[in-house]
Amino acid sequence: MKIIPYGRQSIGEEDIDAVCSVLRSDWLTTGPKVDEFEQAVADYVGSQYAVAVSSGTAALHCAMYALGIGPGDEVIVPSMTFAATANCVVYQGGTPVFADVTPDTLLIDPEKVEEKITDRTKAIIAVDYAGQPCDYSRLQAVAKSNELNLVSDSCHALGAEYQGKRVGTLADMTVFSFHPVKHITTGEGGMVVTDNDNLCKRLRLFRNHGISSDIHQRESRNSWHYDISDLGYNYRITDIQCALGASQLRRLPDFLKRRREIAEYYDEAFSFVPEIDPLSTEDNVVHAYHLYVVKIDFETLGIDRSNVFKYLRKNGVGVNVHYIPVHMHPFYRKKFGTAAGMCPSAEKAYEQILSLPIYPALEKNELGRIVDVLLAFIGNQR
Ligand SMILES: *Cc1c(COP(=O)(O)O)cnc(C)c1O
Repeated sequence: MKIIPYGRQSIGEEDIDAVCSVLRSDWLTTGPKVDEFEQAVADYVGSQYAVAVSSGTAALHCAMYALGIGPGDEVIVPSMTFAATANCVVYQGGTPVFADVTPDTLLIDPEKVEEKITDRTKAIIAVDYAGQPCDYSRLQAVAKSNELNLVSDSCHALGAEYQGKRVGTLADMTVFSFHPVKHITTGEGGMVVTDNDNLCKRLRLFRNHGISSDIHQRESRNSWHYDISDLGYNYRITDIQCALGASQLRRLPDFLKRRREIAEYYDEAFSFVPEIDPLSTEDNVVHAYHLYVVKIDFETLGIDRSNVFKYLRKNGVGVNVHYIPVHMHPFYRKKFGTAAGMCPSAEKAYEQILSLPIYPALEKNELGRIVDVLLAFIGNQR
């Protein structure tokens, strides 16, 4: 039996055609398709600027550089996230400080953020976990009153909205990923969007070795000269990838619609199952559903989660767990002295969460099978 994955890309003929036309063109990397994709994402989210890079992780690293994060600086991050959210702080020599999440949404808790602020705190990175925007009005207020920058790791949330505004306009910088499990894909890829001209300049510098003029400027000046004005990296993305990204972005409304339909199906299927507790959704948001996460109190039910995992996989359902709280990883324990007990809500949630398959190409019969298999397992435990 083929295993249904928890997430996967949808590639159509129009996407393939878009990529092939770049392969026949003069530019393979940093050409017109990069500009086109950046402009299209900026227009879509409603931001002034967009800077495309080689991955979501590179985008987070660029954002930390743009803010000037360095040794001695603290950046507050949630523990319930992918490690890249914290790793990007460490790349710049800074210290990630882990704040706990709200148990029913697994979004960073603004009150817990405030408790973690010291005179070394420079920024907050909020993560729109599963595709639901964080409580931005409170996070913006906390950032403002403490003179901190607010960065949004919206790798789960392209197309989500908060109080009628699209994710991408709710923080000083917002980061997206275009990994194949995310809403739209470029194979590997990422982007930072911002309204701040100075931050945009720094992002572009860092993406390209710290070189302060780009090839277009040099060509127009007929000049070979360039300055390395700071240490940067090669975080460029190719035209091949951006053609795919621009094509995928045109399909995003359909993708989002399908993800929301699947979430609704699950919500309904589990509404009378007391053992299965989907995460809650706030009233003032439009959810983008990168993940569909349920909590199951395995301990009270007397079930070992690894048995659920094995049972579901044996029956063709590829569930996953997002995430092991970052402060629990050996690297963070060793380097930053983090330990169990520091983020109790994230730690408790970790024991209970399962991510069920959700992606636009998931078929109706597959969806039915997933629910049947899960309910059968729960039923066997009763
Ligand atoms: C996917 C993801 C990233 C990293 O993106 P890549 O493109 O895989 O480097 C960072 N943060 C979160 C929350 C993610 O889900």
